Amino acid sequence: MAGGDVRVRHAEQVPDATECAKCAGASDVLLRTTSGAMCLDCAGFAHLEFLPAGSAALTRRAVKLSRSPVVVMQKSLRRFRYRGQSMYERQGILAEPAAIEAAALASLADAGVRGSDGIAERIREHFPGCPTDRADAIALHTAARLRGRSRQRLTTFEIGPDAVRRAVTASILHVDTHYDELVKAGVDPDTARTQVFDRVENVLRAWRDGVSLLDT
Ligand SMILES: [Zn+2]
Repeated sequence: MAGGDVRVRHAEQVPDATECAKCAGASDVLLRTTSGAMCLDCAGFAHLEFLPAGSAALTRRAVKLSRSPVVVMQKSLRRFRYRGQSMYERQGILAEPAAIEAAALASLADAGVRGSDGIAERIREHFPGCPTDRADAIALHTAARLRGRSRQRLTTFEIGPDAVRRAVTASILHVDTHYDELVKAGVDPDTARTQVFDRVENVLRAWRDGVSLLDT
Protein backbone atom coordinates (compact mmCIF):
# COMPACT_ATOMS: atom_id res chain seq x y z
CA MET A 1 0.00 0.00 0.00
CA ALA A 2 1.45 3.32 -1.05
CA GLY A 3 1.81 5.73 1.85
CA GLY A 4 2.22 9.46 2.03
CA ASP A 5 5.98 9.13 1.67
CA VAL A 6 5.82 8.24 -2.01
CA ARG A 7 7.67 10.94 -3.87
CA VAL A 8 5.65 12.33 -6.73
CA ARG A 9 7.96 13.16 -9.58
CA HIS A 10 7.31 15.63 -12.35
CA ALA A 11 7.93 15.44 -16.07
CA GLU A 12 7.41 18.00 -18.79
CA GLN A 13 5.55 17.24 -21.96
CA VAL A 14 6.90 18.73 -25.18
CA PRO A 15 3.76 19.76 -27.08
CA ASP A 16 5.34 20.49 -30.45
CA ALA A 17 7.41 17.30 -30.66
CA THR A 18 6.02 14.65 -33.00
CA GLU A 19 8.45 11.79 -32.51
CA CYS A 20 10.86 10.36 -29.96
CA ALA A 21 14.43 11.65 -30.25
CA LYS A 22 15.79 8.18 -29.42
CA CYS A 23 13.61 5.57 -31.15
CA ALA A 24 11.84 7.93 -33.61
CA GLY A 25 8.53 6.40 -32.60
CA ALA A 26 5.36 8.46 -32.44
CA SER A 27 3.72 8.73 -29.05
CA ASP A 28 0.77 10.44 -27.39
CA VAL A 29 3.14 11.80 -24.79
CA LEU A 30 6.69 12.96 -25.43
CA LEU A 31 8.66 14.08 -22.39
CA ARG A 32 11.46 16.61 -22.18
CA THR A 33 14.83 15.06 -21.34
CA THR A 34 18.38 16.36 -21.59
CA SER A 35 18.62 14.40 -24.86
CA GLY A 36 15.45 15.76 -26.41
CA ALA A 37 11.80 14.75 -26.40
CA MET A 38 11.38 11.07 -25.61
CA CYS A 39 8.56 8.54 -25.53
CA LEU A 40 7.68 6.90 -22.22
CA ASP A 41 9.70 3.77 -23.01
CA CYS A 42 12.88 5.66 -23.87
CA ALA A 43 12.44 8.12 -21.00
CA GLY A 44 12.52 5.21 -18.55
CA PHE A 45 8.79 5.04 -17.89
CA ALA A 46 8.00 1.85 -19.82
CA HIS A 47 6.04 0.46 -16.86
CA LEU A 48 3.79 3.50 -16.60
CA GLU A 49 0.82 4.71 -18.59
CA PHE A 50 -0.43 8.21 -19.27
CA LEU A 51 -3.77 9.11 -17.72
CA PRO A 52 -4.92 12.43 -19.17
CA ALA A 53 -6.25 15.07 -16.80
CA GLY A 54 -10.02 15.26 -16.82
CA SER A 55 -11.25 13.31 -13.84
CA ALA A 56 -9.83 14.77 -10.63
CA ALA A 57 -11.13 11.91 -8.49
CA LEU A 58 -9.67 9.22 -10.75
CA THR A 59 -6.32 11.02 -10.94
CA ARG A 60 -6.13 11.50 -7.17
CA ARG A 61 -6.81 7.82 -6.54
CA ALA A 62 -4.36 6.63 -9.20
CA VAL A 63 -1.59 8.79 -7.71
CA LYS A 64 -2.33 7.35 -4.28
CA LEU A 65 -2.29 3.75 -5.53
CA SER A 66 0.79 4.18 -7.71
CA ARG A 67 4.22 3.24 -6.41
CA SER A 68 5.94 5.75 -8.70
CA PRO A 69 3.51 8.43 -9.87
CA VAL A 70 4.71 11.16 -12.20
CA VAL A 71 2.81 14.38 -12.79
CA VAL A 72 3.04 15.50 -16.41
CA MET A 73 3.16 19.26 -16.91
CA GLN A 74 3.26 21.36 -20.01
CA LYS A 75 4.42 24.91 -20.49
CA SER A 76 1.35 27.04 -20.93
CA LEU A 77 0.67 27.92 -24.52
CA ARG A 78 -1.23 30.99 -23.42
CA ARG A 79 0.53 34.29 -23.59
CA PHE A 80 0.02 34.94 -19.92
CA ARG A 81 3.19 34.84 -17.90
CA TYR A 82 3.59 35.38 -14.24
CA ARG A 83 6.37 37.88 -13.48
CA GLY A 84 8.15 36.91 -16.64
CA GLN A 85 8.06 33.19 -15.81
CA SER A 86 6.43 30.53 -17.93
CA MET A 87 3.35 28.98 -16.43
CA TYR A 88 2.87 25.24 -16.37
CA GLU A 89 -0.36 23.37 -16.73
CA ARG A 90 -1.04 19.86 -15.49
CA GLN A 91 -1.66 17.53 -18.44
CA GLY A 92 -2.17 14.29 -16.61
CA ILE A 93 -0.23 11.69 -14.69
CA LEU A 94 1.86 8.61 -15.32
CA ALA A 95 0.99 5.61 -13.16
CA GLU A 96 1.12 1.83 -13.31
CA PRO A 97 -1.80 0.62 -15.48
CA ALA A 98 -2.90 -1.68 -12.66
CA ALA A 99 -3.02 1.33 -10.32
CA ILE A 100 -5.16 3.25 -12.83
CA GLU A 101 -7.53 0.34 -13.15
CA ALA A 102 -7.74 -0.10 -9.40
CA ALA A 103 -8.47 3.62 -9.12
CA ALA A 104 -11.18 3.28 -11.76
CA LEU A 105 -12.68 0.38 -9.82
CA ALA A 106 -12.71 2.37 -6.58
CA SER A 107 -14.20 5.43 -8.29
CA LEU A 108 -17.00 3.37 -9.77
CA ALA A 109 -17.75 1.61 -6.50
CA ASP A 110 -17.88 4.99 -4.83
CA ALA A 111 -20.16 6.59 -7.37
CA GLY A 112 -22.38 3.51 -7.52
CA VAL A 113 -22.42 3.71 -11.30
CA ARG A 114 -21.90 0.99 -13.83
CA GLY A 115 -19.85 1.10 -16.97
CA SER A 116 -18.90 4.07 -19.02
CA ASP A 117 -20.99 5.05 -22.01
CA GLY A 118 -21.65 1.56 -23.24
CA ILE A 119 -18.00 0.49 -23.32
CA ALA A 120 -18.48 -1.94 -20.44
CA GLU A 121 -21.44 -3.50 -22.26
CA ARG A 122 -19.30 -3.96 -25.37
CA ILE A 123 -16.61 -5.64 -23.29
CA ARG A 124 -19.12 -8.03 -21.70
CA GLU A 125 -20.60 -8.74 -25.11
CA HIS A 126 -17.24 -9.86 -26.52
CA PHE A 127 -15.90 -11.29 -23.26
CA PRO A 128 -18.87 -12.62 -21.28
CA GLY A 129 -16.50 -14.18 -18.72
CA CYS A 130 -14.93 -10.86 -17.82
CA PRO A 131 -16.09 -10.05 -14.28
CA THR A 132 -18.55 -7.14 -14.27
CA ASP A 133 -16.45 -4.94 -12.00
CA ARG A 134 -13.40 -5.53 -14.17
CA ALA A 135 -15.36 -4.66 -17.31
CA ASP A 136 -16.54 -1.45 -15.64
CA ALA A 137 -13.01 -0.52 -14.58
CA ILE A 138 -11.54 -1.30 -18.01
CA ALA A 139 -14.31 0.79 -19.57
CA LEU A 140 -13.64 3.80 -17.37
CA HIS A 141 -9.91 3.50 -17.94
CA THR A 142 -10.46 3.24 -21.71
CA ALA A 143 -12.86 6.19 -21.73
CA ALA A 144 -10.35 8.36 -19.84
CA ARG A 145 -7.60 7.44 -22.30
CA LEU A 146 -9.74 8.06 -25.38
CA ARG A 147 -10.98 11.33 -23.98
CA GLY A 148 -7.40 12.55 -23.57
CA ARG A 149 -6.49 11.51 -27.08
CA SER A 150 -9.35 12.99 -29.00
CA ARG A 151 -10.28 15.81 -26.62
CA GLN A 152 -13.90 15.17 -27.48
CA ARG A 153 -16.83 14.45 -25.30
CA LEU A 154 -17.19 10.86 -24.18
CA THR A 155 -20.54 10.32 -25.79
CA THR A 156 -19.13 10.62 -29.30
CA PHE A 157 -16.92 7.54 -29.00
CA GLU A 158 -17.31 4.51 -31.11
CA ILE A 159 -15.40 1.57 -29.75
CA GLY A 160 -15.05 -1.31 -32.18
CA PRO A 161 -14.16 -4.97 -31.51
CA ASP A 162 -10.43 -4.31 -32.04
CA ALA A 163 -10.38 -1.52 -29.48
CA VAL A 164 -12.32 -3.70 -27.04
CA ARG A 165 -9.86 -6.54 -27.47
CA ARG A 166 -6.87 -4.19 -27.07
CA ALA A 167 -8.28 -2.68 -23.88
CA VAL A 168 -9.09 -6.07 -22.35
CA THR A 169 -5.70 -7.51 -23.36
CA ALA A 170 -3.89 -4.55 -21.79
CA SER A 171 -5.86 -4.96 -18.58
CA ILE A 172 -5.05 -8.67 -18.36
CA LEU A 173 -1.38 -7.97 -19.08
CA HIS A 174 -1.09 -5.50 -16.23
CA VAL A 175 -3.51 -6.93 -13.69
CA ASP A 176 -3.44 -10.71 -14.20
CA THR A 177 0.24 -11.28 -14.99
CA HIS A 178 3.53 -10.20 -13.44
CA TYR A 179 4.42 -8.19 -16.56
CA ASP A 180 4.72 -4.88 -14.67
CA GLU A 181 7.09 -6.40 -12.09
CA LEU A 182 9.25 -7.84 -14.88
CA VAL A 183 9.50 -4.50 -16.70
CA LYS A 184 10.14 -2.65 -13.48
CA ALA A 185 12.95 -5.12 -12.70
CA GLY A 186 14.58 -4.13 -15.97
CA VAL A 187 13.32 -6.85 -18.32
CA ASP A 188 12.83 -5.53 -21.86
CA PRO A 189 9.06 -4.99 -22.47
CA ASP A 190 8.99 -7.28 -25.54
CA THR A 191 10.72 -10.07 -23.63
CA ALA A 192 8.38 -9.59 -20.66
CA ARG A 193 5.39 -9.71 -23.00
CA THR A 194 6.64 -13.01 -24.45
CA GLN A 195 7.09 -14.47 -21.00
CA VAL A 196 3.50 -13.79 -19.95
CA PHE A 197 1.95 -14.43 -23.40
CA ASP A 198 0.41 -17.81 -22.52
CA ARG A 199 -1.19 -16.49 -19.36
CA VAL A 200 -2.70 -13.54 -21.25
CA GLU A 201 -4.07 -15.81 -23.98
CA ASN A 202 -5.53 -18.22 -21.41
CA VAL A 203 -7.42 -15.47 -19.61
CA LEU A 204 -8.60 -13.94 -22.91
CA ARG A 205 -9.87 -17.32 -24.10
CA ALA A 206 -11.60 -18.06 -20.82
CA TRP A 207 -13.31 -14.66 -20.75
CA ARG A 208 -14.36 -15.04 -24.37
CA ASP A 209 -15.83 -18.46 -23.56
CA GLY A 210 -17.68 -17.03 -20.63
CA VAL A 211 -15.49 -18.49 -17.91
CA SER A 212 -14.29 -16.31 -15.04
CA LEU A 213 -10.88 -17.48 -13.87
CA LEU A 214 -10.08 -17.56 -10.21
CA ASP A 215 -7.01 -15.61 -9.27
CA THR A 216 -4.44 -18.37 -8.86
ZN1 LIG B 1 11.36 6.30 -27.83
